This record gives sequence, C-alpha cells and structure tokens, in this order.
Amino acid sequence: MTQSFTERSSNHISSVADTKRQHAQTLIDAMATPVLQHVIAGRSCPSLNGEVFSNFSPFDGSLLNVTAAGTAADVHAASLAANAAFDDWRKWPAARRRDVLHAIADHLEAHAEQIALIETADTGQPLKFTTKTATRGAENFRYFADLCGQAADGHSYPTETHLNYTMRTPIGPVGIITPWNMPFMLATWKIAPALASGCTVVHKPAEWSPLTATLLATLALEVGLPVGVLNVVHGLGETTGQALTQEPLIKAIGFVGGTSTGSHIMAQGAKSLKRVHFELGGKSPVVVFDDANFERALDAVSFMVFSLNGQRCNAGSRLLVQESLHDRFVERLVQRAQSIRVGNPFDPATEVGPLIHARQLDRVREFCQSAEQAGAVLRCGGTPSNAAELPSAGHWLAPRVVSAVTPDMGIAKEEVFGPVLAVMPFKDEAHALALANDSRYGLSTYLWTSDLGRAHRLARAFDSGMVWVNTEISRNLSTPFGGMKESGIGRDGGNWSFDFYMETRNVCIGLDTHPIPRIGKDSV
Ligand code: NAD
Repeated sequence: MTQSFTERSSNHISSVADTKRQHAQTLIDAMATPVLQHVIAGRSCPSLNGEVFSNFSPFDGSLLNVTAAGTAADVHAASLAANAAFDDWRKWPAARRRDVLHAIADHLEAHAEQIALIETADTGQPLKFTTKTATRGAENFRYFADLCGQAADGHSYPTETHLNYTMRTPIGPVGIITPWNMPFMLATWKIAPALASGCTVVHKPAEWSPLTATLLATLALEVGLPVGVLNVVHGLGETTGQALTQEPLIKAIGFVGGTSTGSHIMAQGAKSLKRVHFELGGKSPVVVFDDANFERALDAVSFMVFSLNGQRCNAGSRLLVQESLHDRFVERLVQRAQSIRVGNPFDPATEVGPLIHARQLDRVREFCQSAEQAGAVLRCGGTPSNAAELPSAGHWLAPRVVSAVTPDMGIAKEEVFGPVLAVMPFKDEAHALALANDSRYGLSTYLWTSDLGRAHRLARAFDSGMVWVNTEISRNLSTPFGGMKESGIGRDGGNWSFDFYMETRNVCIGLDTHPIPRIGKDSV
C-alpha cells in the first residue's frame, strides 16, 4: 500500500527520533554499565555499601540505568577529597584557573550532542531545548572564567588615620544540590562560580536525573580540572542530600530546588552553621494590560509557561490579564496551546515531551482536577490528541489553559510545575498589583504594558526578585538572579555569586598618626 506524504514524513521523523533515542541509550550504557558511579577524587566509585537505585525513562518507563546510592560515608569520602584539593586549588593563579574553566567550556561545546541526547533521555525535555544546554553550560563557565582575576577583589576605605581594605577568599569546600528540571544547565550555573571563586565542590544531583552530573565531572577531569576539585555523589535527597548538608567539612550549600526542601536544608545545616544560598520555587505572575503589544505578549506568555514541559522555576504560570483584553487573549492562547506539538522528545519537531515522573504527572493532574471542581474551566489540553501513538507508560500532558481561576484555588497559589497556565482577569492597576503580590512566592514577575510610567511604578511595587518588562526571561549573567519571600535567599550572577562562595575580609592599617587611647600608667 502506498503511503501519503504526511505518513511518510511522520514515519521518517519517528525513525529519526528512534535512532536518536537508541543512540542516547548507547551513550548511557557506555557511562553507566553496570552502574552510574560517584566521582570522588577523580575516580569513578561505587557506594561503599554497594547500594543502588534505578533510573527510569520518562518516555516509556523503561530502565535507563542503575545509579549508585550514596550514604553519609560516601558523602564524607567526597568531602575529604574536596577538602584535600582545596588548599592547592585556591592557590592556583587566577589566570591558570581561568584557562581550565575555559577548557571545560570548550569541551562541553564539543560534546553538545552527547549532553543533549543524555539529558533528553533522562528528563524528557525535548531535544529542541536540550541542544542548547551545552552552550548555556559553556557560557556559565566562560563568564565566570573571565572573572577569576577579580574574584578576590575588594574595596578600599581610606581615612586620614587608617586605611581599610577588603578582599575575598574562598570559603572552602561547598556542597551543591540541584533539581531535575534542567539538571545540566543548573549544575553548571552553580558549579562554575564556585570553582572560579577557588572553592572545591561536592555535587549531589537529583535522583530523577543523575546522568549529566557524572558526564560534567568526567568532561571537566578530561581537560585538566585537578582531582578532588569537583566530586559527584549520587543518591536520594533524604539520605545523600541530608548527609551533605550536615557534613562538617562542607562550608556552604548552594541549593536549587523546592521551597520545602530548602527549609529542611536550613534546619539540617544549622548545627554546622552552614551558609546557604537558595533558589526555590515560584508562582510567577504575568500581568498583561490592554495596551500591551498583543502578539509579543502572546508569544512570551506561551513560551514562558509551556517550554521545557512547563517544568521551569520561572514559569509565568499565573496569567493576570486586563478584563477588556481577557477573552480575546485567552482565545488566542488556547489556539496556541493546542498547536504545540507534544510527543517523543527525540523528535526534532516536538515542543513538549513527557513530564519527568509519574508522581509529577499525577500532581499536575490533581491541581487541574481540583481547580475544575472548584469552578475553573479547563479550556484545552490534558490527554494529547496523538496519545494513541505515544507509549502508554510515558507521562504525557498536553498544555492546559485554565480560566475562571480564583486566587484561593491551589492552581493559583501553588507551584504546579507542568505545562499549565492559570488565568485570572483584573480590572485596573491596583487590582493587578494586589493579585500579583498575593503569593507566598516572589521569584519573577512579568509585565506587559506600553505605559512607561506604569512600568516603572509597578516594577517598584511587585514583590519579586526579578521583574521582566515586555520580555520573556533574558538572562544576563552579570545581573542578580534570585527570589524574595519563599522563592529564595541570595542571588546568583557576577559578584553576587562570589559573595556567597567567598568570605569577605577587612584589613585595617593604622598610619602611625592617630593617638591610641591609654589605660594605666607606667614609670617610663
Ligand atoms: P526538590 O527540592 O525535591 O529536590 C531538589 C534536590 O534536593 C534534589 O537533588 C533532591 O535529592 C534534594 N533533596 C531533597 N530532599 C533533601 C534534603 N532533605 N536534604 C538535602 N537535599 C535534599 O526539587 P525538585 O522537585 O528536584 O525540583 C523542582 C523544584 O526546583 C521546583 O520547586 C522549582 O521551582 C525549583 N527550581 C528553582 C529554581 C530557581 O532558580 N529558583 C531553578 C530550578 C528549579
């Protein structure tokens, strides 16, 4: 029987996707057979007690690999390695440190395809996005490599009698704990500034996406990062992660993940007085006024909530749209959401892949169901129209637009972390501001308006660490990235990163001119 052009081209895409998926599995087998190991002191090692856990594919539920499950003993071994490497690494001339970080960046770019394939297999994020992962990771390394020479810089405060000057020194071995939503990029984001500061690292990646963490450490070692400077210990949060936050040799924890986990980490690290930096959850509002550039706002709103499977901390997941614009804007959003291609993440045309885990899919569905029961309207999405062609064990959800949401609903208050947009209308500026700030989170706010005065007024009034006006996220690594309220503590980027990974020391020198107060009297 002859096939139509559409059938032929869809068969072709599926065979391209299958080939890429098989290639990813071959790469995974090569690095993780029989077990994906920890990387400690430059060596690949199993857990001391031999424990492992299984890592499954979000696409079809098949076993991707088996991973070593670290205990406190493994974390301690990695921390000893990081501690032993610290004294030498911190003394490396800045230019030498810069060169090795640039070499890592080059090496990541040279392995961009491998990184993308493995990340897609591990997370279900479409290749369309993961193909840029290595470049983003390399950018993080390059940016901080170029700042190595000024990481220790301080300020001077001269007076007539004294000179005060400050300097920064690396705090010591640090722990970095990362989530599963963009595992490779987020790991480089935290690790690059730590290494540029002169710190050594023990990295605990998320158990649902362990693969590219080992790959990153392996690639870094291949181009001359000294052994012990970057160690990886795999395992579950409540065991391996907890042990890292309690390990006395570790001086600080850079954490990216959920808000409740952040609060556990703060409590766990209290005894050893850990310094913490938290990039936590969000429920970021997008405020669209009726004077906004309609088409640009539509593009940005769709992109910021449906890209990366909606599993992004900065998702603009709460759309506040002015009443006069509401129906027209929502109608177009629904059309846009319905046109998004859901499917095999290895298919180059796929825009939304499977969610990371069955638990995550259930959670997202529950938010939608309970919103519907409370009177919200599920305008589109849910089971994908091509579900019959997709593996039934995959975690599929077509993008959802949910209207008639009220601020008391879970879907308006909680981080859903999936391709789901909750829509609420507002009357005027005061109403928009009240709705936007009615959240325990404070990561990002997106604002669409052509009124310059209103843009500046609201930018001051929003309770969030970042305000994006007439734009989707546009990351500039020199600017501070982070959240207020329950979205985080601290900022990433430029000197903000160095302030976290380094101690600031003040040196005060008397110029031998000031009278020193005397107590007591001697005979001379
Ligand atoms: P999570 O908090 O469940 O896990 C994150 C990491 O913490 C994992 O490695 C996990 O193993 C570890 N962990 C869990 N319990 C721990 C404990 N008691 N002690 C130490 N470590 C522990 O988060 P997730 O589900 O992997 O990721 C999604 C979350 O990450 C979302 O809330 C998202 O908003 C957030 N996130 C924030 C940013 C940001 O920049 N603000 C960026 C990306 C993701």
